[in-house]
Amino acid sequence: MNKIISLAYEHRDILKDTGWVISEPFSFAWWDGFDSADKIVLSAFLVQMTKWESVKKVINLLEQKGLAKLEVIADLDARTLEPFLKSINFYKTKTQRILKFSRFIKENNGLENLLKIENRALILSQEGVGEETADSILLFAGHQPVFPATEYSRRVMSRVTGEEIRKREVPKIVENGIGRDVLKFKILHASFGGIGKAFCFQNEPKCNRCFLKHVCKYNYR
Ligand code: SF4
Repeated sequence: MNKIISLAYEHRDILKDTGWVISEPFSFAWWDGFDSADKIVLSAFLVQMTKWESVKKVINLLEQKGLAKLEVIADLDARTLEPFLKSINFYKTKTQRILKFSRFIKENNGLENLLKIENRALILSQEGVGEETADSILLFAGHQPVFPATEYSRRVMSRVTGEEIRKREVPKIVENGIGRDVLKFKILHASFGGIGKAFCFQNEPKCNRCFLKHVCKYNYR
């Protein structure tokens, strides 16, 4: 895995094109250049079943109106927030979920206080927050040593190692390989996400263009 990490550094321009910006360990910019934990959390709610480009437009719009902060949103009602989210799939449901989550954040002394590994179960108990969302925001908005289990990670790791890995096994395998290191977790997650999006398709992966081709067993099968 350390080899994948060094290859990711070497090819960070490719990852940037997929929305992953290799940055300082405790920067928010990893998440497509965002500058706050609030925007990462908002986009994590909005992106489910929606194109990332549409999500970025909504985040920019909220920013222009001074609404890209959960504690500000907590004081809005659905009628005020909903029009900003209209371009997002399932915007009515997502409006409700964001409002509830924002109020939950406010009641729990703010986002920074809540985004701690010991609060994972509490975060997971919120409407619309699955394991992938919870772990992604804990890692990238809270800088906690949690590795999200994603389909991209499962697929790339399985193909690179030549072993069929189950999605729920991903975090433990990564942790055993590199320890619980926030920076390494971010690089690996960004690499798997970027490679999955750009090259490692379910059918007909583009191995000849992928920067893991020399370390990937699938490419030599
Ligand atoms: S070399 Fe091919 S199979 Fe291996 S990670 Fe890259 S795209 Fe996937």
